[in-house]
Amino acid sequence: MAVLDIVIFPDPRLRQVSRPVEEIDDRIRELVADMQETMYVNEGAGLAAIQVGAPVRVFIADPVLAGGGREDPTLVYINPKIVRQEGEQDGDEGCLSFPGVFVPVGRPAKVTISATGLDGEVFEQEADGILARAFCHETEHLDGELLIDKVGRLKAQSIKRKLKRAATKG
Ligand SMILES: [Zn+2]
Repeated sequence: MAVLDIVIFPDPRLRQVSRPVEEIDDRIRELVADMQETMYVNEGAGLAAIQVGAPVRVFIADPVLAGGGREDPTLVYINPKIVRQEGEQDGDEGCLSFPGVFVPVGRPAKVTISATGLDGEVFEQEADGILARAFCHETEHLDGELLIDKVGRLKAQSIKRKLKRAATKG
């Protein structure tokens, strides 16, 4: 396993639309293991493959979001699709590709996701609260949609300035 570099906004790779996974092979299993290590080292709650530069429709989430413990297996979603959503929730959202940025984002209160697991089985999972929020955020990454698209123009400019400054500081 390896800790991978996180792709930071405004890197254009984050705008790519990721392609579906055709087969769950060793490359996908290795990618997921590396993503897992990368997410924990960076103290993230979720991570999409494109955030480590792999344009495939895979994301992972911390089992803590589902009421589990860190020792539980990482939640893995391959070719995910949100199939139902209802209600609304407010809350602040962050992203490992936007270090230090937290912005309020409205999301559905409850969502159902359909995805394939590492075992190749298709499953559905219902979530509310922070896990529902993570499902929305991470599936959007796979279509090149980002946190910054959820805020107004002025806020977006200030986020861009902040991340540019951080990048030039090295
Ligand atoms: Zn993100």
